Amino acid sequence: MKKSVILFLSLFLIVFLACSKSASDDNPTPDDDQSQVPQNPQQLFPANFRATGSSANDILSNTNFDNLKIEIAYVTGFRPTQAAMDQFQDFLRRFTFKGTIELIFNELPSPNKESLNLNDDIGPLEIENRTVYNDGRTLGIYIYFADAPSEGDDLDEGLVTLGAVYRNTSMIIFEKTVKTLADRANSLEDEDVEIATLNHEFGHLMGLVNLGTDAVNDHEDTDSDNHCNVDPCLMRAELEFGGAGKSPLQTLSKGDLHSSCTLDGMGLLKQMEANVSRGAAAAPDLDAECQLDLETNGGRPNTNG
Ligand SMILES: [Zn+2]
Ligand SMILES: [Zn+2]
Repeated sequence: MKKSVILFLSLFLIVFLACSKSASDDNPTPDDDQSQVPQNPQQLFPANFRATGSSANDILSNTNFDNLKIEIAYVTGFRPTQAAMDQFQDFLRRFTFKGTIELIFNELPSPNKESLNLNDDIGPLEIENRTVYNDGRTLGIYIYFADAPSEGDDLDEGLVTLGAVYRNTSMIIFEKTVKTLADRANSLEDEDVEIATLNHEFGHLMGLVNLGTDAVNDHEDTDSDNHCNVDPCLMRAELEFGGAGKSPLQTLSKGDLHSSCTLDGMGLLKQMEANVSRGAAAAPDLDAECQLDLETNGGRPNTNG
């Protein structure tokens, strides 16, 4: 009688262990989950793959998101300067209500391309490399610092693209071009060109001008969509390639993915050198009209003019 009880208990234990093992196989631990690379980020995180400017209110206000988590993805050797990163966070604190603004650095190998096209290179590279997406009350942003110029650039012709925006939470900075231009300008450092490029493109993610944030008073340039006609202003039209003339914009944007802005390196350089020679800060600030637009769309009221 006693033996059969022991046998019964042993059998019970074996069955119990077998069951718990198979249960753990069926339900992977959170560690296993994290090690699995998402198969299709566009399906998993559709809110991060929308049109440029469509998350302007989510970036500015705390209605849906309290925090910003910004992935700084950079090719080895093309990490942006710490000075530019500090100024970039100051810029975000000035115009948004976000409680926490966190930068995550993600070093990447070179894709070994001579130039980058939005649809063939930049879009697919983001799918492959991006790790930061919206999570609860935290809004995820992805910024890629590239080691190759934009397709369509021609340095001898003065056609150089510094940055572009192509989705609601994504942008690219052509860091190799940033460094080339900063080297050529006696009065400018890498960080000056970096911060002007970053803040201008981020201005578009915050919906400027009429790109998800409506202009309170009409100040959109008639020749350059989504840019400002006030001088001086960070979002000024002269900083973008536009009009009917030769422009790398069409080349960069051929295909489904479209850039709402390609920043003209020569235009920006000219303005920044003029600012420095006047004794002003190199990078232009947002003018009062652009600031009013941001505030009206849920941004932090600007107090230092
Ligand atoms: Zn622009
Ligand atoms: Zn403006």
